[in-house]
Amino acid sequence: MKGNKHLITTAIAYGNASPHIGHAFEFVTADTLSRFHRLIGGDVYFITGMDEHGQKIERKAKEQNIPVQEFVDIYAKSFIDLDAKLSVVYDFFVRTSDKAKHYQGAQHLWKKLVDAKTIEKRSYKALYCVGCEEFKTEKDLNEKGECPLHLVKPEIVEEENYFFTLSQFTDKIKEKISSDELKIYPESRKNEIMALLERGLGDVSFSRPKSKVTWGIPVPEDDTQVMYVWCDALSNYLTAIGYGTEHFDKDLWVNTTHIIGKDILRFHAAIWPAMLLAADLPLPKRILVHGFITSHGQKMSKTLGNVIDPQELLQMFDSPAGELAGEALRFILLHEVPSFEDGDVTMETIRASYTAHLANGIGNLTSRIMKMAISNAVRSKMSDVRSKIQIQEYDTNGSLKKVMSEMRLLDEYIATNEPFKVIKVDMERGKEMIVYCLVRLEQIVEDLSIFMPKTSAKILECIRENKMPEKPLFGRLA
Ligand SMILES: [Zn+2]
Repeated sequence: MKGNKHLITTAIAYGNASPHIGHAFEFVTADTLSRFHRLIGGDVYFITGMDEHGQKIERKAKEQNIPVQEFVDIYAKSFIDLDAKLSVVYDFFVRTSDKAKHYQGAQHLWKKLVDAKTIEKRSYKALYCVGCEEFKTEKDLNEKGECPLHLVKPEIVEEENYFFTLSQFTDKIKEKISSDELKIYPESRKNEIMALLERGLGDVSFSRPKSKVTWGIPVPEDDTQVMYVWCDALSNYLTAIGYGTEHFDKDLWVNTTHIIGKDILRFHAAIWPAMLLAADLPLPKRILVHGFITSHGQKMSKTLGNVIDPQELLQMFDSPAGELAGEALRFILLHEVPSFEDGDVTMETIRASYTAHLANGIGNLTSRIMKMAISNAVRSKMSDVRSKIQIQEYDTNGSLKKVMSEMRLLDEYIATNEPFKVIKVDMERGKEMIVYCLVRLEQIVEDLSIFMPKTSAKILECIRENKMPEKPLFGRLA
């Protein structure tokens, strides 16, 4: 049965580096929510992708002497590969360098904004940080006048730009967000964006001269300019579902959930809604804003040497978990990082979580119950167990923790009641208890399926075919 259409999106990653652990977290969160909404009958379309234009990429490709399209292809592949390993299954992978699918829609949106008289050409002199690909004002800089993120002085740029008249939308956006017509999760992020709107929005530069940046989408009817990131990248959410063509799925668009990091809240909760209002399009329904992943309480950085690389974790899990290595990482991210706040992980906490919840938890419990069932010739009644999983307020982390506490209860039930001993003195009672364990395990594993789809399928196969896993599902870490 197909229910409500629902578009679920991740932010599109900037195509100049391989995915970091924060990307991995966002992907598995979005995938889990997609699986959940499908499970409860939603007709979900899940998109992710890459933001591949701009000066930063153009310069880096040039430095490395690689044609810029090849340069972004390399990184797109690294994201696609990671998604596959993490059981992240999307319906479409958007790439903003995709001329066939993306350019036309982005240019269509631009023209709508021109028609609405929200785009104007102005002469512009400002500070610009190439690292951020963003214009800066004095108050954005540190005491040395540097970009606080890149620790370099921004360039002074004077050029002709198109501007988007964002300021005129301040009140309308305020109304949409305060009424929750566009709902921001969590409440603290809603308050943050409301405070920003209270101060008022300024107009934003919306294009760059082609003399400075060539790697971008041409501005319609102006050969001298390419689009700046706003219309080029944010439009991916529309072009992925056919905007600008006769195939645009507006029914899908009206129920959209954006999943983003806290650093791009302003883009998604101020600039993007204004663009949509100007183009006479509905706003997304909700924006879920997650935090950053720190390690030992600090932002991960090469200088601090505390970077935890998803590829390294996959390698670490490869030998003990085999084909479930990606699901081990998926579990760690979903279980150890809160849905909406910053989360801290270290190699120690990751190893401890793997051992407690996967090796000693899911893996061990499955082996134990299947061994009891097989050695006592007890089979599950093949009940029609269906997942009863709930996700309250989009809190995937809270939901997974509940499943894990059910699992612990089952473990305790076995430890306390010892069905393997009972069956030796009271066959009927012992069998009943083992059947109970099988049915409980089946329920828990059904509930686990949105978080760990392959693991869940493997355990269900063991229950239904009455067999042991060929080897421990999650072996010991070296
Ligand atoms: Zn910067």
